[in-house]
Amino acid sequence: MNNKNNNNRRIISVQQILMWVVIFAIAVFLFNRPGSQTQTLDYSDFKNKVAAGEVADLTVAPGVISGTFKDADGKDINFKTVRMEDPELVKELSAKNISYKAEADNSWVGNILFNVLWIVLLIGLWWFVFIRPQRSDGKSAMNFARSKAKMQDPSKQTVTFKDVAGVEEAKEELQDVIKFLKNPKKFQKLGGKLPKGVLLYGAPGTGKTLLAKAVAGEAGVAFFSASASEFVEMFVGVGAARVRDLFEQAKKNSPAIIFIDELDAVGRRRFAGIGGGHDEREQTLNQLLIELDGFESKQGIILMASTNRPDVLDPALIRPGRFDRHVSVPAPDLKGREAILKVHAKKVKLAPEVDLHTVAKGTPGFVGADLANVINEAAILAARADKDAVDNDDMDEAVERVIAGPQKKSRIISEKEKKIIAAHEVGHTVVARLTNNSDPVHKVTIIPRGQALGYTLQLPLEDKFLTSKSEILDKICILLAGRVAEEVVFGEITSGASDDLNKATAYARKMIMELGMSEKIGPIALPGGEEGEVFLGRDLSRHRQYSEELARRIDQEISDTLQAAYARAKEIIETHRAQFDTLVARLLEKEVVEAAEIDEILGLKPQKEQEAAGELSPHDTDGAPQPEPAPAPQQAELF
Ligand code: ADP
Ligand code: ZN
Repeated sequence: MNNKNNNNRRIISVQQILMWVVIFAIAVFLFNRPGSQTQTLDYSDFKNKVAAGEVADLTVAPGVISGTFKDADGKDINFKTVRMEDPELVKELSAKNISYKAEADNSWVGNILFNVLWIVLLIGLWWFVFIRPQRSDGKSAMNFARSKAKMQDPSKQTVTFKDVAGVEEAKEELQDVIKFLKNPKKFQKLGGKLPKGVLLYGAPGTGKTLLAKAVAGEAGVAFFSASASEFVEMFVGVGAARVRDLFEQAKKNSPAIIFIDELDAVGRRRFAGIGGGHDEREQTLNQLLIELDGFESKQGIILMASTNRPDVLDPALIRPGRFDRHVSVPAPDLKGREAILKVHAKKVKLAPEVDLHTVAKGTPGFVGADLANVINEAAILAARADKDAVDNDDMDEAVERVIAGPQKKSRIISEKEKKIIAAHEVGHTVVARLTNNSDPVHKVTIIPRGQALGYTLQLPLEDKFLTSKSEILDKICILLAGRVAEEVVFGEITSGASDDLNKATAYARKMIMELGMSEKIGPIALPGGEEGEVFLGRDLSRHRQYSEELARRIDQEISDTLQAAYARAKEIIETHRAQFDTLVARLLEKEVVEAAEIDEILGLKPQKEQEAAGELSPHDTDGAPQPEPAPAPQQAELF
């Protein structure tokens, strides 16, 4: 592990630099204090200067006389001199009109105290920054290294499975954990074997934390939670100490659940980063492994953790005997979304007209946190409008808020720009409606919202797990259609399409490099195409394990794919130019055009009928865990 040593050395040298900075600061401080530039005069010198009338601001203390005198350049110099028995001094000072004041005896004590205080403070700081963290036996850890874990008392534990909806399978899998926690001895007598660690994986906001809490609630045990990113903080050794402390606390309160959020923050593969990985993270991970191995499930403790990237976890963590139970917490399907909405709607008053099934239909791709947010936003909107209950308008607005942020009606947009935006959006809309494999268009608007100046809202039919090549190609075509429309109408293109271009390129790249959907490149999944969080080490080490030649062909194929889609969008718009222009005019006039009117202008049968005809029906996956879903067009999207 050559790299690793380098890394350690680097860390030490950073510490050394810091150390010298502190030394320097102390030195500067000590030498720059006003008192330290004081000259000490012989008493005879002092008397001469008094006689010459050169001194001022005298302070006469029992042991010492201090003040200032002017040097040859006329600069004021601080001085002090040891006081001698000199009854004449006061008279001489008065004669020369030199002002003076007397001071009580203890000034030197104060001075010393002052200096000592500073030195103690600086040494303290020194110890705190450099010495203490290196003593990683953890016993030295003061409160600082104590885990910041929050404990929830079982008696106050109010979250139960009733509060978690749409994840029935996960709940089912956690049943025996609950049984065990309720009565560990009995469970074991019956020969039950239990995992020590349960890993909940799924996208952010799917309710992993909530689920862990609910397990504690169902079992009536204490719940300790900590975020893994909190472990990896500041000083070397602290993370490991915190892990230890967390386990100690939990053991004292067993039976209990320890929940670690964002496990990937510490649990990433070791030896992965440039120069050997994050040292502190690694220590923390090692400590976690030690604790995992060191406790018996007899002790009545279950460790739960959540991650949205199970694929990056260190294999050591998920070995048998550690986090060996993996529970998927997927984004909810239609039924799940309705159930989650119901859970949260209990907290607000809904008008009878609101149908949560319809809301669930209009929110594909939303996770539990989003749905909770929809209900919350809707309640706020209703309250703001002084309504008695949340109605459909509030729900609709809330859904769009969660997708795109609040409306920005106050943003002033010039007429010229409005025209460009309208053409751009109608470009997306027309192509989205006229390509075969596209999701229904819900509405198009030029009322700005969030970051968007205008948008076309496309809501997919329900829950698809597979995406076809044609669908991805259509998606790329729709994305590029905004830019195409600008070109067709104005003969000029704007920066407004930059986000569309990014997305279209990402789709093309994914299609060719990861999904093996290009005929020219072939059915191949290439490393390095994966988007997502950049984690330097792993990504670098696996950087381009294929030839220059193939890389060039891939680039060419990506570019060709985008060009072809662009040409196709252009053809669609040009052959439907009359309808296109009508829709642009309508949009400029009304600012929002809904699905039915879009279809009417385009002379299409309404989307609703298409839906009923089941032209796109849900499929089933083969059941393999899919931590990272392909960018399937299965989410509400804005262009
Ligand atoms: P995660 O830990 O997966 O990121 P959280 O458990 O923190 O997600 O979810 C955040 C909030 O979203 C929860 O407090 C809850 O209000 C809501 N929520 C998420 N999933 C669900 C669900 N399945 N049922 C009910 N509410 C949910
Ligand atoms: Zn666009």
